[in-house]
Amino acid sequence: MIGRTRSGARWNRTKVFPVCDDLAARSAGDVTKHRDLNTGPIQAISSVISRPTDTDPDHMPDRAVLPQHECGLFGVFGHPNAAVLTYYGLFALQHRGQESAGIVTTTGPGHTFHQHKDMGLVSQVFGQEELERLNGTRAIGHTRYSTTGTSTIKNAQPFVVDCVRGQIAIAHNGNLTNADVLRDELEGKGSIFQTTADSEIILHLLAQPSSNGGNILSGLRRIEGAFSLLIMSERELIAVRDPYGWRPLVLGKLDGAYILASETCALDLIHAEFIREIEPGEVLIIDENGMRSERPFPDVPPAFCMFEYVYFARPDSIIGGVNVAKVRTEMGRELARKFPADADIVVPVPDSGNYAALGFAEELNIPYALAFVRNHYIGRTFLQPSQLIRDFDVRVKLNLIKEMVAGKRVVVVDDSIVRGTTARARVVNLREAGAKEVHMRVSCPPHRFACHYGIDFPDPDKLIANQMSMDQICQYLGVDSLGYLDVDGMVRATGRKFNEFCLACFNGKYPLPVDPALDKFIMERRENRAKALAAEERQPTLFAGLK
Ligand code: SF4
Repeated sequence: MIGRTRSGARWNRTKVFPVCDDLAARSAGDVTKHRDLNTGPIQAISSVISRPTDTDPDHMPDRAVLPQHECGLFGVFGHPNAAVLTYYGLFALQHRGQESAGIVTTTGPGHTFHQHKDMGLVSQVFGQEELERLNGTRAIGHTRYSTTGTSTIKNAQPFVVDCVRGQIAIAHNGNLTNADVLRDELEGKGSIFQTTADSEIILHLLAQPSSNGGNILSGLRRIEGAFSLLIMSERELIAVRDPYGWRPLVLGKLDGAYILASETCALDLIHAEFIREIEPGEVLIIDENGMRSERPFPDVPPAFCMFEYVYFARPDSIIGGVNVAKVRTEMGRELARKFPADADIVVPVPDSGNYAALGFAEELNIPYALAFVRNHYIGRTFLQPSQLIRDFDVRVKLNLIKEMVAGKRVVVVDDSIVRGTTARARVVNLREAGAKEVHMRVSCPPHRFACHYGIDFPDPDKLIANQMSMDQICQYLGVDSLGYLDVDGMVRATGRKFNEFCLACFNGKYPLPVDPALDKFIMERRENRAKALAAEERQPTLFAGLK
């Protein structure tokens, strides 16, 4: 099959698999039949991937098979329209979390905090009425995807408490790696938790009275893991970035007001000037006297999340002084140099594959074809997929322009393959539309390991690259060839140094040791444990110890 392409010399560097003989079976739209056509290894592969009918991987929504974004943060100090600016800022950060949104505002010392939060997109949670109620010149806002704790209103942020230190609100992006230990300890001392999110632990630590030796810095020193935070007290707005700097956080200015945001794209939307990034390990305190920085954490090597560049961050954001779209385009170029393909068109999987595909196409001088059309207006869908429309979830977000691919040798470029189910469905789409060859190129290395720092990758045994060899993946996807960018090429594309990044989900080298048992439902497991104790009538009672 190698002789099928024009530039065989380059082509040999990529593993090539023969096209499945029975295209008719695929055009009948039966993925299972396609699977059945391949005997031997594919049966083993199917056993790894197979699921019950009601959660057939090819029918699962993108949301269930792609790593989800974590959270978006936005803060304002000293602007008469703080709530409205925060609303727009969260709008720009919607890609970082779509489950819930919230804003807390205040006018400063002596004034009550106002808050509104709910499940849904920013546009669904806030209207004119809600924003008018959010008085004040200071605000913090949050868009959430649950990386710890389930997706419910009780876990929607920002969290607010009224304690000996006055009112405090907090918004968190990241994942604490010592959450279970800290929560046990705090509960043992009498703390009462209202949510199952690890972020509430930070709030409890911050609320410790000085008489207990507590202050904000000592509280922050107790937490480990990934955390970019916005904390609003009655006097201050505080931005915190963990010493590894896993998640982004930037500082801007608008009309004399300070603005804080997860990404620079949020500053752009409100015409704020970008000042600088909050540095790893920095605690930036803004109050009526200006701003100052503290550095309470030990010095550790930085570990910025590489996947922010690959997938999560918006392409118009600037991270580490480099535009994200530029990095992705360069990743595509690196990929083209490493795994070229002799093809008629390069097709991106929108939106995240757009820039890598552009770089790939430019590098090899192959026409770039936007053959997949994305529906941007889906919002939340409440209907479950049904057999009536077999591949609803695949097509509702991306439909294919058949005329662009029929009879063509197609290179399809995506930013990553996690479980492989969505990628396989796209390949079936292309085959059904009459693509002569389908070559898959991926602009990051294979994901083989879990993330414990705030990105909700599935368990390693659900990651296709953890379970299969490259040959098996190629065959499972049904592609003529498959090529992943390597770690060196990916880092080179950023123009930054290798030792600035966390690459754990690619190479298994975790910058901070993690508890393998930790996952997003750790807090729920605690609740389940409590229920089990209750069932056995061993649950502690409020009257224990009373005579
Ligand atoms: S493990 Fe991967 S996704 Fe998680 S922080 Fe590190 S690079 Fe990012």
